[in-house]
Amino acid sequence: MLQKNQIIPLTITDITHEGQGVGHHEGIAVFVPMTAVGDQLKVRVVKVLKNYCFGKVEEILSPSPNRVENDCPVYRRCGGCSFRHLSYEEEQRFKNNWVFENFRRIGGVDLPQVPLLPSPKEEGYRNKAQFPVQKKDGKVAIGFYAPRSHEVIPCVDCRLQPPSFARILTEIQGFLERENISIYDETTGKGLVRHIYLRYGEVTGEIMVCLVINGKSLPKEGHLVKRLLEVEPGIASVILNTNTKNTNVILGKECRTLYGKDHITDLLCDVKVDISPLAFYQVNRSSAENLYRKAAEFAALTGEETLVDLYCGAGTIGLSMAGQVKELIGVEIIPEAVENARSNARKNGVKNARFLCADASQAATALADEGIRPDVVVVDPPRKGCDLPVLEAIARMAPSRVVYISCNSATAARDCAEFAKLGYRAVKAQAVDLFPRTCHVETVCLLSKLQSKEHIEIEVKMDELDLTSAESKATYDEIKAYVLEKHGLKVSSLYISQVKRKCGLDVGQNYNLSKKEDAKVPQCPPEKEAAIMDALKHFQMI
Ligand code: SAH
Repeated sequence: MLQKNQIIPLTITDITHEGQGVGHHEGIAVFVPMTAVGDQLKVRVVKVLKNYCFGKVEEILSPSPNRVENDCPVYRRCGGCSFRHLSYEEEQRFKNNWVFENFRRIGGVDLPQVPLLPSPKEEGYRNKAQFPVQKKDGKVAIGFYAPRSHEVIPCVDCRLQPPSFARILTEIQGFLERENISIYDETTGKGLVRHIYLRYGEVTGEIMVCLVINGKSLPKEGHLVKRLLEVEPGIASVILNTNTKNTNVILGKECRTLYGKDHITDLLCDVKVDISPLAFYQVNRSSAENLYRKAAEFAALTGEETLVDLYCGAGTIGLSMAGQVKELIGVEIIPEAVENARSNARKNGVKNARFLCADASQAATALADEGIRPDVVVVDPPRKGCDLPVLEAIARMAPSRVVYISCNSATAARDCAEFAKLGYRAVKAQAVDLFPRTCHVETVCLLSKLQSKEHIEIEVKMDELDLTSAESKATYDEIKAYVLEKHGLKVSSLYISQVKRKCGLDVGQNYNLSKKEDAKVPQCPPEKEAAIMDALKHFQMI
């Protein structure tokens, strides 16, 4: 049994997902931070648990060839990077292996390989950062929380962010000190300034500065704006976000624009993207382009498809593919992001897209009930993955391909295992590194409907045989085609469902997407209603 403070020899043989080295001593796993596979070490045991223990490097007897010099003074203290002591090549090797192993072990998916696309930039790639502000020894500290704590480690010049962020933060820090503006204290809930949140449009050069405050206004707001613009003329938007709740959630719901626009603009896969403070936007633009291009390749679009983009954020993935599909339907829960998606579609001249503000599972269920049969569904859920009803509703919509994008290959793999039960097989996957030097990695996986050809043939035959109900089975596409040909009008599935419902025909559940704010469902205009009625008569449905 190992004892605390015991010195042991150790060879590091693996790295955990959090970036800690692991070696074995007399059959016991010993975790040692800041080490590399191949390191031969003298290690001091610092904590002993039942089946494993933690150690600290006493001496490096023979270093791994994969080590590099750490160049950051707050490495391992700020809770950001995990791999600054390893070469990027070595980091890629691990990430590659994890994703592959997650698909194999958790997903039960036996892919020959899961290649990894490295990030074009290893440093300075982040276009977004959120910095907690804290009073420390009477001074304003701006930086990052230490791991598993709310102690701010001061740092304004993180290697992963663009250099302009440090200039802005230094200016704000000086302003807060000079003007003696109070800083939020989590323990008392008192004080004003909580976080500074910065965003950067890499292509446009536009910067957003957002101050998160425990109140509605900041003393000398105009003065701060003036100073900021002097330091950084690229600032296109200065925003105050109000968060008066005592929670770990950084942003409140309310924003007030102090200067410029209420969003910034960037360019992603040739799509002009407006990004508001609350909308999601990938933090590494150039690597996100690689990811979306890979997703488009997996989607194999020909221009004929209906594409559903679930968890669409500001619409970026779908909009980057809109030119290659017939129709795009995006779904997103945050109203501001949906607004962004709609205006992004308008600004890019995309006319074949609509965006629904709804929970993915509700929307997917409603679309499936509606009879929407997309050819391809793209999902890009948050880290926790998709809820089972989302997967079930997707399977009911019966797309021939599902492109699953995820920042957590473990939950993606779990969902692939669920998809397998629903008749979808993971065909190929690609890891894309959007987060060099940290322990995160993005994955895209193509799932294909099993024997979809046979399924379609059987469905058609059933239709032909089931004469009694054949008349009620004119598909939405058939109705659309008839209306277009006979009346020269384009009608959406939504309009068809509204008219069907008016005529007492079964359309499944309500088109139940209007529960969230800002989800006004458009109503079918009379001219189109008459045309759809005509089609329903033609198909002997009424
Ligand atoms: N596809 C987008 C955003 C991906 S991030 C892009 O690449 O930019 C995940 C998105 O899912 C976020 O925008 C988040 O607001 C949204 N989201 C989270 N939970 C959701 C839910 N239950 N239903 C719909 N959208 C959800």
